[in-house]
Amino acid sequence: MSKYVALPAGVSEKVFDTALAEYRAILGPDHVITAAERLVPYNKIMLPVDDERHAPSAAICPGSVEEVQRCVAVCNKHKVPVWPISTGKNFGYGSAAPATRGQVVMDLRRMNRILDVDADLCTALVEPGVTYQQMYDHLQDNKIPLWLSCPAPSAIVGPLGNTVDRGVGYTPYGEHFMFQCGMEVVLPDASLLRTGMGSLPNSNTWQVFKWGYGPYLDGIFTQSNYGIVTKMGLWLMPAPPDFRPFVIRYDDEADIVTAVETLRPLRMANIIPNAVVIVHALWEAGSAYARSDHFTGPGAFTDDAVRTMVKKTGMGVWNLYAGLYGSPEQNDVAWKIVQGAVKASGKGRILTAAEVGEDPVFKYRADLMQGRMNTKEFGLYNWRGGGGSCWFAPVSQARGSETLKQMEMAKRILNRHGIDYVAEFIVGWRDMHHVIDLLFDRTDFNQTRAAHACYRELLQEFAAQGYGVYRANTAFMDEVADCYGDAKRKINATLKRALDPNGIIAPGKSGIWATV
Ligand code: ADP
Repeated sequence: MSKYVALPAGVSEKVFDTALAEYRAILGPDHVITAAERLVPYNKIMLPVDDERHAPSAAICPGSVEEVQRCVAVCNKHKVPVWPISTGKNFGYGSAAPATRGQVVMDLRRMNRILDVDADLCTALVEPGVTYQQMYDHLQDNKIPLWLSCPAPSAIVGPLGNTVDRGVGYTPYGEHFMFQCGMEVVLPDASLLRTGMGSLPNSNTWQVFKWGYGPYLDGIFTQSNYGIVTKMGLWLMPAPPDFRPFVIRYDDEADIVTAVETLRPLRMANIIPNAVVIVHALWEAGSAYARSDHFTGPGAFTDDAVRTMVKKTGMGVWNLYAGLYGSPEQNDVAWKIVQGAVKASGKGRILTAAEVGEDPVFKYRADLMQGRMNTKEFGLYNWRGGGGSCWFAPVSQARGSETLKQMEMAKRILNRHGIDYVAEFIVGWRDMHHVIDLLFDRTDFNQTRAAHACYRELLQEFAAQGYGVYRANTAFMDEVADCYGDAKRKINATLKRALDPNGIIAPGKSGIWATV
């Protein structure tokens, strides 16, 4: 039996001993972790598969770019696969655990410097371990009037990890990768690349112009395994003089058609500039109530129970959150337009901070829309209890009929497996991310098995209708890659072989392997 929790695939214990000794020589013994109890945080996956499948063999924690490069050289020499994480949360997508058993986690949390914030140009340059909380505090402490855009559990995650996995937020800068500008990447051969204008020695335009010269490369370092990102530039939003959050509550499930058709033109014309979110009652309830307060029957939460719950609580079956950002005069005009459109649609109750500002769920959404810290979304994990969460997040057109069709498909499949439809739509520029949290009790074998079968069925039925997910968890990466077809898999693998012939960086990420 091996003295290690796991071994990297194809690496003998003897070779692994040597690699670990070399990491220790570079990082110092404290920053090379192999003890089972210290590896536990790197193997808490929440997914409906065995932890064993994703158990790392070790974790290494470099403190500088040079240390990352030297560790990557060791990985290459001994063909040890390495899985980089930044803040390592990624709950419901795989947390910090690698795609396959035995990879060494490279934990970049020690590299947590905010290298630059330019208050005039509204740009920042950060290292992987920087959290949104840290950035928020930095802006507050230095009285810099800039806003962040964060994903929902913002305080403990960071901009680099979220952006390279193409996560989204809720402000006008909510499509995070769109507002990213410039990267520094350690390539698999341990060399260093700065993308965009950063390739020029002494450039001062790295964080202000995205494209540089020649092929635009930043995209290939997102949701991929072609390099380890060690610095990232991003744009921050100037704090508007006036911010007016509001919610529109809709009473019927089919009202989502009206909601989207009414609000899309306003979003496209930038009258509503932020990533509007349309939240289903069961997601709202997850942040405010216990499931047993409103449903105790077997199987999935029924439509009847949803209707009773919304009547009792006053929430909508759909709850659309959006905000106005600008000067008070601009917002007065925009507010008239929004109110007029909602009134003309004949549906929806529109409420402002003056009316529901004390409601904790409204407060939480208003915080998200102005990039303020919170961790309230974690309340969802108590909904079913037992720690299981697995996101299924297909992209849909921002078209009412499409969202209704996706909702009906998803609900039918979920309910067949006894899983609640806990979902929201996040409106992008032309698309919507239909984000569904498959919540289940991981300590219950049947629920876990059901969640696994359910995700598979969702993936296949949605793909059959031409829908794909925007992001995938580590348990299903190959299956998701299959949905996107052979040509895409082939070019991904060709790039992988060219850049990383030994396949040492995050093998299996997004279904990309050096060997096919
Ligand atoms: P968060 O804590 O914000 O959810 P993570 O640090 O867990 O983000 O990163 C999400 C995913 O992005 C990781 O699982 C990994 O696949 C990828 N990733 C994170 N950091 C890097 C990096 N520095 N370079 C390349 N890929 C990364």
